[in-house]
Amino acid sequence: MNNQNHIIPCNVVKNYNYFRVVVVMVPLPAQGHLNQLLHLSQLLSTFDIPIHFVGTATHNRQAQLRRVHNGQTNHPIEFHDFDIPPFPCPPPNPAATHKFPSHLIPSFTAAAVHLHRPLLAFLQALSSKVKRLVVIHDSLMSSAIQGVDSLPNTETYSFHTVSAFAIALHSLERKGFVYGRNDGEMTTIYEEYFPKELNVVSMEECFPTEFLELIRTQFRQLPKMGAGKIYNTCKVIEGQFLDVIKRVEPEFRHWALGPFNPVKISSSMQSCSSHSCMAWLDQQEPRSVIYVSFGTTTAMKDQQIKEIAIGLARSDQKFIWVLRDADNGDVFNTSEIRKSKLPEGYDHLIGDRGLVIRDWAPQVEILSHWATGGFMTHCGWNSCMESMTTGVPVAAWPMHSDQPRNTVLMTMVLRVGVVLEEWRQELVTAHAVEEVVRKLMVSEEGAEVRRNAERLGNIVRQSVEDDGESRREFEAFVAHISR
Ligand code: UDP
Repeated sequence: MNNQNHIIPCNVVKNYNYFRVVVVMVPLPAQGHLNQLLHLSQLLSTFDIPIHFVGTATHNRQAQLRRVHNGQTNHPIEFHDFDIPPFPCPPPNPAATHKFPSHLIPSFTAAAVHLHRPLLAFLQALSSKVKRLVVIHDSLMSSAIQGVDSLPNTETYSFHTVSAFAIALHSLERKGFVYGRNDGEMTTIYEEYFPKELNVVSMEECFPTEFLELIRTQFRQLPKMGAGKIYNTCKVIEGQFLDVIKRVEPEFRHWALGPFNPVKISSSMQSCSSHSCMAWLDQQEPRSVIYVSFGTTTAMKDQQIKEIAIGLARSDQKFIWVLRDADNGDVFNTSEIRKSKLPEGYDHLIGDRGLVIRDWAPQVEILSHWATGGFMTHCGWNSCMESMTTGVPVAAWPMHSDQPRNTVLMTMVLRVGVVLEEWRQELVTAHAVEEVVRKLMVSEEGAEVRRNAERLGNIVRQSVEDDGESRREFEAFVAHISR
């Protein structure tokens, strides 16, 4: 592993003149964001492009520890740990009225603001040693890359971590649709692609005010000369919403380079495949297990956890349930991690029918396993892409951010999932959990969304094969930055 623990002094940056292009990744330090840019790094590195991945020591370590290797021979990715002043890392608050992980905001702000100086020094040194320097930065890390677009040989691309569906809506909203300043064309686009019956949730419901402010601040600082925008999606999944984005923002070049996550699990994958849940899955019937996980930003009250436990037990279906608290700003600071209690006698009640995982689960491998037949998910965009590429239908229980909008995409537009009807309520009952599990796993409606999900999974996997549509878009991007 090429992990450099200190800022690279400018005079020791290697000379990269041999390569046509060098790429620097600037992620937001949240798992769902780190993960996507690391996967993109792996994909680009297979084209023999040197990749530098920058961040704080703790977030680089987090990204590497939880990394899913794509099994291909890579040009090694170089990690650069930049020092920033200590930042607050409060624990998640399961009792908060808004389910958004506001406890992570101090780490986001600290990274966006304090990485700026060391990053700029690093990029200045690098730009003089390369033919072309490409900086791919999270759209919420614009503060960190201020001034970068004026460096010689350098171009910046903003990376937007959510679905094209959510981005298209957001673009329309930013252009004033929602605030009544829309012109006729925007209204026509909105009504055509987002009809009333989709019942799309407002931004205000998805995010708390303080995070909306952070989004606005970072978007205001997006480089004026940005060379383009990158998305972890593809035409075969979201072609129509990518078209909307292009119509609403014709001033930018848009690249749909997804799926970023590995689509085939090969024996050379080195992640957590030794996890005991994989041996348990091997013992189960095909498509008989529902995988239950709410990502890395969901904190639930004890009462909610109890309702899920009972609902899963009563559903009479096999399950793997990842029961972990939300990450905090430094995942290696484990002193305040809450370990939720299950109802007394729960292990005995479920016997060999279910597994409760409290450590890091090998999600991509679980979803790729033939015994997995459903996924109860909060619809974080990584989880959506992973379920779609593996062809696993979802039971959607969105919590915050883009998740309610992704839920509409998954269940009403693509029809690869069912929705947990009670998701807006303060407490989701065991009965609702039991019902949605049964609906997905053993009803006719569940069988139909499974067929849709499997069909879509096949289409997506084919699209990344040689000469497939997604593969061609990726190669076009590589050719563009290597021109
Ligand atoms: N993940 C995992 N194991 C876990 C929990 C999460 O591999 O125990 C991965 C999951 O595969 C996904 C990411 O963490 O790639 C979570 O991202 P997502 O966008 O789905 O949700 P977020 O955590 O950002 O809310």
